Amino acid sequence: MALRLYNYLSRKKELFKPIKNKKVGLYSCGPTVYSFAHIGNFRAYITSDILKRSLEYFGYKIKHVMNITDVDDKTIRDSEKEKSNLKDFTEKYTKLFFEDLETLNIEPANLFPKATDHIPEMIKIIKVLLKNDFAYKSDDGIYYKISKFKNYGNLSKLDLSSRKTCARINADEYDKENAHDFVLWKFWTPKDGEVFWETEIGKGRPGWHIECSAMSMKNIGEQLDIHTGGIDLLFPHHENEIAQSEAVTKKQFVKYWIYNEHVLVEGKKMSKSLNNFYTLSDIKKRSSNPLSYRYFVLNAHYRSKLNFTWGGLKSAEEALKNLEEIVSKTYLNPLPRSPKEEEKYIKKFKDALDNDMNTPQTLSVLWVALKDPKVPHLSKIELALEFDKILGLGLKPSPKIPPEVKKMALEREKLRQQSQFAEADLIRSKAQKKGWLIEDTPQGPTMRKQ
Ligand code: AMP
Ligand code: ZN
Repeated sequence: MALRLYNYLSRKKELFKPIKNKKVGLYSCGPTVYSFAHIGNFRAYITSDILKRSLEYFGYKIKHVMNITDVDDKTIRDSEKEKSNLKDFTEKYTKLFFEDLETLNIEPANLFPKATDHIPEMIKIIKVLLKNDFAYKSDDGIYYKISKFKNYGNLSKLDLSSRKTCARINADEYDKENAHDFVLWKFWTPKDGEVFWETEIGKGRPGWHIECSAMSMKNIGEQLDIHTGGIDLLFPHHENEIAQSEAVTKKQFVKYWIYNEHVLVEGKKMSKSLNNFYTLSDIKKRSSNPLSYRYFVLNAHYRSKLNFTWGGLKSAEEALKNLEEIVSKTYLNPLPRSPKEEEKYIKKFKDALDNDMNTPQTLSVLWVALKDPKVPHLSKIELALEFDKILGLGLKPSPKIPPEVKKMALEREKLRQQSQFAEADLIRSKAQKKGWLIEDTPQGPTMRKQ
């Protein structure tokens, strides 16, 4: 079964082929746990969730690893502001992150390694880099020498040839214009407070980029099939991950680089620094079902920018509600399923996934099927539930109709046929009191749990 994905390394759609024909190693850059994740961040995790579910649907076995960045400039800065120790501080936000994943129906990764549990692995890599002259010691830390790595810039298509200076950069985050030697290990300064490790390479703490090289290689292996993240991570984070990992292993670090585009607010990237962000609890306050945010995200292709508006969320909420209603309805006299019609739509759904995980297309296939008069209602339910294995919108079929409710509906139908409408209405209200809604449609009456 084919699955074509847009690989940022080649800037082309490519047919997915795992490195080994065994488990697919999938690594996703996870959250930096210094605050609530915002809903823009969750687009990244919804994207990796869709990717993982699609790969599974296409028959692959996956090992999915998502790291937790629990030590960096921001976690240290904000834990000190709160006068809390780093561990308690980051554990609080890790727990909240897991709760939000669950709310959005994002399947947990197989492993969620923490940076602070991988310091020995990081030291090991840095020592090899020092030994092989890919890294050097400076007064405030140990740096990676990018001029030594000939493929530096391959992923971000960065041309370093015209660059004359070779300054160092101590911050974890910077842009392409500042592409310089980056920090692997930061020597302790008083501003780090209690946060340091006494190691062979000095007292200090890791830079952000080395964390992901260490955690991915430790938990998956020297070569990953797929690495995901938001597009802002392409440079410098992932360019640096490649430089660190490949300098040590001499093997290609990652075969497919997959990136989601940003969620925007009024045309600007949703971010903490611009203070234009919303959290999942904001969504919960304004929407009866937080999965409407998942629907909202899936309604755009992951590689296109997505402007968040409350109106857009409302439309997604209504669409999801309509879906739920269709799936939870049961006909009193349903037509049998049609395997031929089901197959036809499953094929269209798979084609949409195969087309670089085109989720808006999958949703439109679903809606066309649900509106198609040739598709019996039982097949519609079946298709919606089948597609939901990937979409993860939490669709549930109606619970089994209790025999007494079915009896009521049958009796009501008989009365209606005899034009005894008042009596028929009485039965309908009785059923409603028991929590079951009976509705008449051109295909006969339906029942739905309220
Ligand atoms: P962070 O916790 O800042 O490391 O970010 C976690 C993930 O969210 C990364 O994959 C980022 O690239 C991604 N991300 C950050 N902001 C946005 C946004 N506005 N829209 C989509 N993804 C984002
Ligand atoms: Zn990372």
